[in-house]
Amino acid sequence: MSAAMTGTSVPAAVACRVSTLDTDDVALSAQAAHDTVQLARDARWHLDATVAGSSPRAAVARDGGLAVLLVGEVPDTGGPDAVLHLFRDLGPCAFSQLSGRFAAVVVDSADRSVTVATDHAGTVPLHVVHTWDGHIAVATEAKALVRLRGRGRPLPGTQEMPGLGGVRRVRAGTCLSLAGPGQARARRTWVVPAHRELVEPHLAAEQVRAVVEEAVAWQARDGMTTVLSGGIDSSAVAATVRSQRGSVSTVTMGTDRSDEFGPAALVAEHLGAHHTEVSTTVASVLAELPIVVALTESADPSVNEYLLPLARLYREIPAGHRVMTGYGADIPLGGMHRGRADLALEELIVEDMSSFDGLNELSPNLGSHLGLWTSHPYWDRAVLGRLVTLAAGLKRRHGRDKWVLREAFRDLLPEQTVLRPKLGIHEGSGTTSHWSEVLLERGVSPADVTATKARISRAVYDRVVVDGEAPGAVDLDDLTSTVVAAEPVRA
Ligand code: ATP
Ligand code: MG
Repeated sequence: MSAAMTGTSVPAAVACRVSTLDTDDVALSAQAAHDTVQLARDARWHLDATVAGSSPRAAVARDGGLAVLLVGEVPDTGGPDAVLHLFRDLGPCAFSQLSGRFAAVVVDSADRSVTVATDHAGTVPLHVVHTWDGHIAVATEAKALVRLRGRGRPLPGTQEMPGLGGVRRVRAGTCLSLAGPGQARARRTWVVPAHRELVEPHLAAEQVRAVVEEAVAWQARDGMTTVLSGGIDSSAVAATVRSQRGSVSTVTMGTDRSDEFGPAALVAEHLGAHHTEVSTTVASVLAELPIVVALTESADPSVNEYLLPLARLYREIPAGHRVMTGYGADIPLGGMHRGRADLALEELIVEDMSSFDGLNELSPNLGSHLGLWTSHPYWDRAVLGRLVTLAAGLKRRHGRDKWVLREAFRDLLPEQTVLRPKLGIHEGSGTTSHWSEVLLERGVSPADVTATKARISRAVYDRVVVDGEAPGAVDLDDLTSTVVAAEPVRA
């Protein structure tokens, strides 16, 4: 990595566990030492937070009996003070106003209430157990609550974690207030917009450019790294960083099977970027599966395929850095549906936007276990809102996917980049084809490959999340053999 990639900062708390119970097995994936912070305590009631991250200072703000623990960041101040002030004025409704990438815990000693909140898209996963006798435990990682499995009651605004009965994941865009036994109230702070606007095409492009610029402006820092593929999504982000900050550092990863070095270098050269290429083996990418599942706590095989190459690439970026990606633009823009021209793009986008919650694609854990903070401008609240609500005709237009995004950034990028068809990270790195080949070589029929990947992902999830096993203890070869053997193999 070049020297230009040093000197960045990550939010103070990148993982947390908060509990009224004295349990000692805190398993958080963030890299640095754990700190214990007292959020509230009196003779009968206490709430201690264990926070982990690369900053020694926990992101806690206090005022009288009110304490806020912020995992992540909000625009402008970036810290928990802004949350505290807003909460003091508005109570839980504060979270309808706050944009950012965060999970928050607010403790009010006066009425012994605990409020937990996710950002609009739940980009920092948050889990809660409210026991039948009134104890509360909250954690960014479900695995940190494994010992309380079976003790939690159902809660509004949450969903049970697979295999972990009683451990509930707080839904995206939700604020949940808990008090004594039986008192729980959930509020939605963001919902996926259902309406669509047919804006004049070039005005739509201008609007997209403006919201992306605003998101990059609050998320970018000096010395941060942009992970660049040479596709339109990450190229637009890199170009925005370059135009706002005068320089940009980019890194591209390729494997022995496939790479996007050429398209990425074209963009990097055009932007005068400090550019690095990382070469690795596709086998080392697939080997990330246990750690990726442990970090995302999601058994979704497609998501894992997208995240495997990123997880591998993040290993090459020094701890303490911020990483900016172009991840996720395809979901509100329907960019990955190129082979489904027969179906209404609008319907596909509605389907995708109704199923993102819980996939944990944007979880900061993927970077935070390495001491990195990741940000994803396309899932900033304002950007997402603008992209989702544009009419589908502005997204697939003149035979092009993501037309409005391409149009928005065409003056900052080479024409070849603007016109380049989408290539998913799992395709460009050879991850999908390699994993498929591994299974085919073991006798899995082509028709069963996708289902087998799903079974493997779930088997890994059961071990590293439900059973709390260290990901390093999972031998992926053995596990694959077991799963494949358990499956009917067709000739
Ligand atoms: P497009 O969707 O048009 O291909 P893209 O490549 O930027 O654009 P994705 O393919 O969805 O977007 O990939 C998601 C993100 O992952 C990218 O925006 C980029 O930040 C990162 N990424 C993908 N491939 C690579 C790569 N080979 N090296 C570094 N980062 C990558
Ligand atoms: Mg791509």
